[in-house]
Order: sequence, then C-alpha cells, then structure tokens
Amino acid sequence: MRRGLYPGSFDPVTLGHLDIIHRASELVDELIIGVLKNSTKRNLFSTEERIDLLKRVTADLPNVRIISFDGLLVDCAVEYGTHTIIRGLRAVTDFEYELQLAQTNKRLRPDIDTVFLTTNVEYAYLSSSIVREIASYGGDISHFVPQCIMDDVYKKAKRGETV
Ligand code: ADP
Repeated sequence: MRRGLYPGSFDPVTLGHLDIIHRASELVDELIIGVLKNSTKRNLFSTEERIDLLKRVTADLPNVRIISFDGLLVDCAVEYGTHTIIRGLRAVTDFEYELQLAQTNKRLRPDIDTVFLTTNVEYAYLSSSIVREIASYGGDISHFVPQCIMDDVYKKAKRGETV
C-alpha cells in the first residue's frame, strides 16, 4: 500500500489545505494527515478540535486518515509506514523553509522523500493565520474555509483565547 503523510498545524484547516488534501489523496492509496501537537506556536484550536474539523471536511474522502503527532516528522512517517511526506508550496517565501525541512529530513532518513504540491493560484495567499485574523474581526471567511466549519472558526476567533 502506498501511503503519504501530509503534516501541518491546520489551525484551522483552510480551503488551501483541503485542495492539497484532495489532490494528494488521488496520488496515494492512503493519505495520513498528521496534526502537529506540540508546536511552539500557541494554537487557537486544541489538537482534538483541529482533528475534529479535519474529520468533518474530509468525511467524503474514504482513503484519508487523521492522526496527531509530536516529535520528529520522520519518526511519525516511520511509525505510520510511509516513505512520502507531502507539503504544499504557496510562494517563494515558503520555499526556503520547506527546502531546509525537506533536506534535513532526507539527511535524518534517506529512505523518506518529500513531495511538493503547488498551491492552486486561487489559494496562493491563504493561510490559517489570515483566516484567524479576519474571523476575529467578524470578516467574511466564506472563500477561505469550508462552510461546515465556518461557525466554529468564528466562535473561537472572536473569543480569541489560544491553547
Ligand atoms: P505548518 O505550521 O507546518 O506550516 P500549516 O497548517 O500552516 O502547517 O500548513 C501545512 C502545509 O500546508 C504546509 O506544507 C503548507 O505549506 C501547506 N499550505 C498551507 N496553506 C496552503 C495553501 N493556501 N495552499 C497550499 N498549501 C498550503
């Protein structure tokens, strides 16, 4: 079975993430979405909440599984039996960081490769932090996140508490 691991914070999942998820799920037999637990960042949504939002927006994709992880990404890939890490690339600003991450992971585990999917131009500007900011002021996020999670994002962002 060919598995891919798509890791990230997903705080919250956006239409940009979802586009990568749809496309990646067609490239592999099973796509594992890895939600990063112990990020140094403060998150708006808890790990469980981020998993729940991801489950809801991927309910129509039978070969997608959501898990959480902390520690090294390559260790997570080994644990879930995949040699392929999938990342999204938006602009050149993503490139330097992503290249460093991919090359470091390759050094740590030469048998694991990182594959990049370029963003759909429609979502090239989109990030979770932009969504959090707009939602905190009650702005329109309907073009940025799936409709079924919009209310959850507004509720959290307006309260503004981080976890
Ligand atoms: P991280 O904190 O690891 O960057 P994110 O949740 O911000 O986690 O992003 C996870 C992955 O999704 C990264 O590879 C990121 O480049 C990609 N990504 C984020 N937003 C978009 C988007 N709008 N289009 C394509 N890829 C994206």
